[in-house]
Amino acid sequence: MKDKKTVSFSKDATNIFFHILTNCNLKCRHCYINKKEHGKNTLPLETIKAWLEAFAGKSATANVIFLGGEPTLHQDLSLAVKHAKKTGYKSITIDTNGYLFNGILSKTEPGEVNYISFSLDGVTRRTNDMLRGKGSYDKCILGIKDAVAKGFNTSLIYTVSSANIDEFDMIEDLLCDLGVVRFFIQVIGIRGKTAKSGSSGIYQENPQVSRLKWLDIIPAAAEKIARRGITVTYPKVYLNQKEQFECAGLVADNYFIFPNGRVYRCPLCEDYPVHSMEFKENMLVKTGKINETDLFGLSIPEGCVMNRLIQPGNLSYKKDGTPEYKIACCLLKEELSAM
Ligand code: SF4
Ligand code: SF4
Repeated sequence: MKDKKTVSFSKDATNIFFHILTNCNLKCRHCYINKKEHGKNTLPLETIKAWLEAFAGKSATANVIFLGGEPTLHQDLSLAVKHAKKTGYKSITIDTNGYLFNGILSKTEPGEVNYISFSLDGVTRRTNDMLRGKGSYDKCILGIKDAVAKGFNTSLIYTVSSANIDEFDMIEDLLCDLGVVRFFIQVIGIRGKTAKSGSSGIYQENPQVSRLKWLDIIPAAAEKIARRGITVTYPKVYLNQKEQFECAGLVADNYFIFPNGRVYRCPLCEDYPVHSMEFKENMLVKTGKINETDLFGLSIPEGCVMNRLIQPGNLSYKKDGTPEYKIACCLLKEELSAM
């Protein structure tokens, strides 16, 4: 038995996606970090603490995901985790490429971190290392095994693209063998390096898989994986014309924070200086017009306005010019959990 639900947007939970630095030891082909827009600095611990506190009491529940760059390169990550716990964050996650620098598994306890989330983008070493760099597959697998052995809950993030979809059917066994408890499927976004990926030569015409291929492979694979006791989350992506479109910028409480102080409400806006908030001397302030919030209320038949602007390759139209379907907010997820 399993339970499938669309995770509804809510203002009752504040979710912060906290990039504490942008530095990374890898150079993934699809990296979305854009240092021109996101900064090159590493936040001092005192700043991390102040910014965590700014969001801790915004709603009944606050959740934080520590990100980078590679967040374990930050020597004070374990202290940031402890501060988030002390400040009342209900859920604390560290996203990592698996290298687990600075002895993070020894400096934190399983009771302090809800999940350590590992990014792997190929079921085979060959595909993952082509996308993420030589040696990264082995390092990630070793990191997961180490975290599981030490009693941490682990999750795995797989960014689906035309370069790795063909081996997706093999991931189920790998997840079970490794003992991860959650599996996050993501869609490659046409942003960061991928927006310029003509130079990389690894993707076919479109790095994103076609709608038919996505719908043919992903929901069925997610069900199979959930039946084996792993909670699976994947983006809904496509809405039929009867399904209601909602923009998370209006109906949810998500914040994407970068070390240069920019705070976005929409991840698809992160390549542009349209952030709606920023930290100034550790105070969170609203930015002036025009910013991302001016896009959130726009209503177009294609659904998400930012998707229409930056990745229109996933849309298709009828002969009369109307779209065949809508694109959901990139933050709208389906979740399947074992019961
Ligand atoms: S591990 Fe993450 S931050 Fe580092 S290069 Fe890869 S995608 Fe970018
Ligand atoms: S992805 Fe689209 S729908 Fe979602 S927050 Fe951004 S603009 Fe709104």
